[in-house]
Order: sequence, then C-alpha cells, then structure tokens
Amino acid sequence: MDRAWNFSAGPAALPEAVLRQAQADLLDWNGSGASVMELSHRGKRFMELAAATEERLRRLMGIPANYRVLFLQGGATQHFAQIPMNLAPRDGSADYIVTGVFSRKAVSEAAHHVNANVAATSEADDFRSLPPRDTWRLDPSASYVHYTPNETIRGLEFHDVPDVGDVPLVADMSSNILGAPLDVSRFGLIYAGAQKNIGPSGLVVMIVRDDLLERAPQPIAKILRYAEQAKNDSMLNTPNTWGWYLAGLTFEWIEGQGGLAVMGERNARKSATVYAAIDGSDGFYRNDVQRSARSRMNVSFVLHDTALDAVFLQESEAAGFIGLKGHKAIGGMRASLYNAVSEPAVDELVKFMRDFAARHG
Ligand code: PMP
Repeated sequence: MDRAWNFSAGPAALPEAVLRQAQADLLDWNGSGASVMELSHRGKRFMELAAATEERLRRLMGIPANYRVLFLQGGATQHFAQIPMNLAPRDGSADYIVTGVFSRKAVSEAAHHVNANVAATSEADDFRSLPPRDTWRLDPSASYVHYTPNETIRGLEFHDVPDVGDVPLVADMSSNILGAPLDVSRFGLIYAGAQKNIGPSGLVVMIVRDDLLERAPQPIAKILRYAEQAKNDSMLNTPNTWGWYLAGLTFEWIEGQGGLAVMGERNARKSATVYAAIDGSDGFYRNDVQRSARSRMNVSFVLHDTALDAVFLQESEAAGFIGLKGHKAIGGMRASLYNAVSEPAVDELVKFMRDFAARHG
C-alpha cells in the first residue's frame, strides 16, 4: 500500500519511522509480551518510558530546570478554560492577543473563569495580519498574557516572541511546537495539543514554570489543578499511555534528524518553496497573509476562481495528496507542513500545483 502525500492540518502526518516502530512494537513492546497500551501506567516499564520521554523533550527544547513538563489530556481547548482557573483569581484579569479562530476561542472559554481582555486583535482584517506590538493595550497587573504563536487556520505566525514585560507569557503552540528552536525561558507556560507535531490526538504537552504552579487562585477540583498533576508526575489519573509512548518515538526521531535547528531550517525551506509557487503563479494562486507573518507550518491559499476548488481537490486526491482542503472558516486550500512532511513531499506538491495551473490557467 502506498502512503499518501499527507498535508493535513491535524491530526496530521507522523514520521514513517515512528509508525514503523509502533507497528513493530504493537504486539510485544520492549519484551513485555504486551502492547504499551495493555500495560499499567504504574508499572516499571511505563514509568521508565514516561521519564525518558520527558528527558528527551527537555534536551530537545533546552527546557530550564525551573519548568515542569506535564503530559495531560483534554485537547488544547480544555486548557483554554483550565489555564485561567490555574493562573488567575476569578475577579482578576488576563490579557489575550487575538489573531485567529483559536485565540478567539481561547479568550471566549477563558471569559467563564477570569476577566479576559482582548488587548490586541487583527479581527478587523479577518486575521490576515498581526496587530503591531505598539498597539497592544497590556495591563501590567494582568495575571498573564495569552497568545497563539501560530494560527493554524489562516496560517499566521509570530516569528519573534513578543516582549510583554514581567507578566507571564502563555502560548498555545499546538501547531508550531518543535517546529524550530525556541527560548523556553521567555514563557511562563507553553501548551500544545499533540496531534500535529508530536503524535496522536488526546494528549496535551504542557511546559510550565514552577512559580506559576504555586499559584492557587481559584477553588477548583484537584483533577483540574496543574500543581497536582505536577506533584503526581502527570498520573493523577490514568494518562494517555499510547500518546505518551508515540510522543517519545517522535522526540527520538527529531533528535535523530539533528534536533530543532534542523527542523527549523527544513520548515523554512519547505514553506518558502510553497509560497514561491503561490507568488510565482501569476495570480492563479493567492495567499493574503501579511508577508512578514506567513506561517512556516500552515500555508493557506485560494485559487483565482473558486469554481476550480472542487477540481483541485479531486485531481490532487487522484494524484495521491490528502488533507489539502482549507478550513471551512476561510475556504480555499491549506498545506500543513509539519515536521513529518518531507521536502520531497513538498516538491511533489508544488509540481502538482504548477501543472494544475498550466492545465486550468
Ligand atoms: N489551538 C490551535 C492553534 C489549534 O490548531 C487547535 C486545533 N487545530 C486547537 C487549539 C484546538 O485543539 P484541540 O482540538 O486539541 O482542542
């Protein structure tokens, strides 16, 4: 069976080597006589895997010692609500930078648990740009500032970490974690749903600074409290063991490829290749995102004639491509170029795009 050229936004392509390892391990993992899914999370084998996986992520990202790494559940969306519960008093406030559908969801979920202020937004231009830093109305007494470094739907990315002074910076990195080197010490809390650059859905990786774990601003259930998860090594209840295992394989694969510097260079080349095909198409394809904020992970584009959308999808699928349909919120196409999407896959895509434009232009 042939593997498709997979450009899905998430759940998304995983490295083939990771899938092959998982396949080989499925019936008998690590000499245990069982799949990792069939073993206790409290057993020696899984505990070792969990610790080694965290260590690998710490090495990969250079996570400082005063940060904890948590392996949680609920998807990024659940943490839109849980983050304010853990970091801010109910009558306190938090600042949100709204640059797309996901940051808008984050602020609306947070609003149930804190006074969530939109300190800056680019909604007026339908999230095609980033609000300039000097227009942000930040409150120095806010409990935190939340932003979305990469908006998955439009493909809009911050290429620098914004300076927000002493207020802890919270980042939803669901669609760009591990895509390039990062200075973790600039953040108070980083969280990401795993289903793009890490592994399967149903796992959330969180990196949180110790002093934020000491905050206990709201009376919430123990299961919702990050400090309790930290105290229990993310095993307050049964964790997503399969997701944790696959995340470990992906981290190992990234290390083997040369780490985040190599991922960053590759992702820059891959996205530059697709943007060049769009910009060089004489208007057949168009990307409307502010150039300096174009995403390296999700490249959205529209065809000059929307009547061709269905034809593009049909022909691309017949040619072996999947996941190119844009999000329903904006239509058009989107090529997601996460770490597991290879440079040859991207070359095939732009070849197809040029050929399609030649035939239908
Ligand atoms: N944030 C971003 C940036 C996303 O791309 C997504 C999902 N595509 C989410 C949040 C929501 O994630 P989940 O479905 O895991 O809750």
